Amino acid sequence: MSYLNNTEVDSALTNLSGAYPTLCEVVDLPERSVEGVACRALRLGAAPAGSRDCVVLIGGVHAREWGSCEILVFFAADLLRAYSTHSGLAYGAKKYTAAQVKAMLDAFPRTRWFIDVHSFSEDILYVWGDDQDQSDNPSMNFLNHAFDGVRGDADDARYREFIPGIDFEHETGLARDFQDGLHGVRGRSYTAKSGFDLYPTCGTSDDYAYGRHFVDPSKERILAYTIEWGTEFQPPWNEMENIIKDVDAGLAQFCVKAPSTVAVPTVAA
Ligand SMILES: [Zn+2]
Repeated sequence: MSYLNNTEVDSALTNLSGAYPTLCEVVDLPERSVEGVACRALRLGAAPAGSRDCVVLIGGVHAREWGSCEILVFFAADLLRAYSTHSGLAYGAKKYTAAQVKAMLDAFPRTRWFIDVHSFSEDILYVWGDDQDQSDNPSMNFLNHAFDGVRGDADDARYREFIPGIDFEHETGLARDFQDGLHGVRGRSYTAKSGFDLYPTCGTSDDYAYGRHFVDPSKERILAYTIEWGTEFQPPWNEMENIIKDVDAGLAQFCVKAPSTVAVPTVAA
């Protein structure tokens, strides 16, 4: 076993949907990549599509970050196997019970959480990426043109991006859950911080996913993240196997705890 190429990732999804037809299906995504490549996803869940809250996980967006697709393919395969055999999951020293596995596929219409898997730096990054976070001034937000031209500088009072306090609590809480699950495998400690604290960004997938409901309040609030796993691009495969266990245990803990962030009214910006 080693790193998977594009064709192998795609056939892994097909094989999983063939092996577990009642628990998952391959979905053709509506848009092609910028290079015209058709993209597919695997939907996991024991209930019909659209009937449950769900977590969207993506990986392999940046070409040299080999390993993110493997993390997600293995995670899907592990969950499907554990659910089908009514068993738990073990990643190193970190264990999940059969009941927790069952809850992940049963208990969750709707996208409520989003994670974009990248490498590297051993971080889980919550929103925002364009400036430091603040929860005191709702008018200081990315939609307000009065602040154009002053975003993106650290440690200044001119601009910080608004995140409602309850969302900040949920974002950081689930980031801690991810850290805890991952740490339980072999003791690796990932850092939880905002995307901006890694480096300033704009137009990232997680800022987009979380920002949608501010632009259009009819959209669901999505708690969004970027994971930066590992300490190098393309680690040797034997270390990649350890990283897959680390990150998948973190993702499992995230999914176990994610429902606790629902059923709280969204605070409008
Ligand atoms: Zn990346």
